[in-house]
Amino acid sequence: MKAMRVPVFGPPDCLREDDIPVPTPGPTEALVRIHACGINRMDTELRSGTYGGEPLANFFFGKAIVLPHLPGIEPAGVVVALGANARGAAVGDRVVAHSHLSCGHCTHCRAGHDNACAEIRVLGVQTPDCGGYAEYFCWPADRLISYGEGLPHTTAAAVSVNYGPVWFGLMDQAGMKPGETLLVTGAAGGCGHAAIDLGRLLGVRVIAVTRSAAKVAALRAAGAAEVIVAPDNTPWSEQVLALTQGRGADVVCELVGAASWRESLSACAARGRVVVIGSHGGLHTTLNLGEVFGRNLSIFGITRAPHTAMARVMQLAEAGHLRPSIAATFPLSAAAAAHGLLETGAFSGKIVLTMT
Ligand SMILES: [Zn+2]
Repeated sequence: MKAMRVPVFGPPDCLREDDIPVPTPGPTEALVRIHACGINRMDTELRSGTYGGEPLANFFFGKAIVLPHLPGIEPAGVVVALGANARGAAVGDRVVAHSHLSCGHCTHCRAGHDNACAEIRVLGVQTPDCGGYAEYFCWPADRLISYGEGLPHTTAAAVSVNYGPVWFGLMDQAGMKPGETLLVTGAAGGCGHAAIDLGRLLGVRVIAVTRSAAKVAALRAAGAAEVIVAPDNTPWSEQVLALTQGRGADVVCELVGAASWRESLSACAARGRVVVIGSHGGLHTTLNLGEVFGRNLSIFGITRAPHTAMARVMQLAEAGHLRPSIAATFPLSAAAAAHGLLETGAFSGKIVLTMT
């Protein structure tokens, strides 16, 4: 089968088309023919050998990369074969993969927080030669989430890994409620659009922050009530305070990292909740702890989504309640061009590979 792999860390054109064997499903696994795979910023970071501008070793999952690396954490497709003891999926099912594997028996797994398992293995990160930039992948059948004919594979791929953690962070952890104000940084990316869309669905007022005036219309169309344009990380928290009569945002979906962290805390209301999902704009920052406890702030770190949250967002997508924004699609063989587009930042929404 065709697979786009990373033989050595480097720029987008280091992605190489390889012909590798179609994997054979293990006893409890399904073989899935991939039809689409979302491009995640994690993919481009792991390809470059850095995260947030720092060595991969500084990133929690960065030490696990084996070269040649087969990226792709967001595949969607159709089950074409099953192992002898596979349960939970049938041949012909349209499925996305739950984004990671976990032990299933530790206290976190038993409590439904499988994304906090110490033995977590993220698809396309810690699973050598198993990733979405290929024509097939194998995955435990009971860790697949099915969707119906009405949901295109490209949409399923765009929803699964972006919406899942955002749902978990905003709803299950931060307890976001209708009528509150949600601030979204890095709003033009896949998770940013997911946060805006879920805010729209819940009935919160969304304030989006982006670096480019060219993205304002797309962010408003996605559901942002206000869009703040802050090129080159110019300070913007005062604008949030002005828009909220000095109160600040109840919930901050922080998707940038060190480059926006200072502003995010300043823009947060008293008793505000900051949800951190990725930090591609820098891993290390400084923190005034007096501000955190003085204003009763809560900070939630989110990696991946528990199975329940991923299943929930796929149900919402299938029922037509979500409006994921697909910025562009590329054939698998053009993965380098897709990475190039993502790295320019000249898009708004989700970039998806297709394998038809
Ligand atoms: Zn576990």
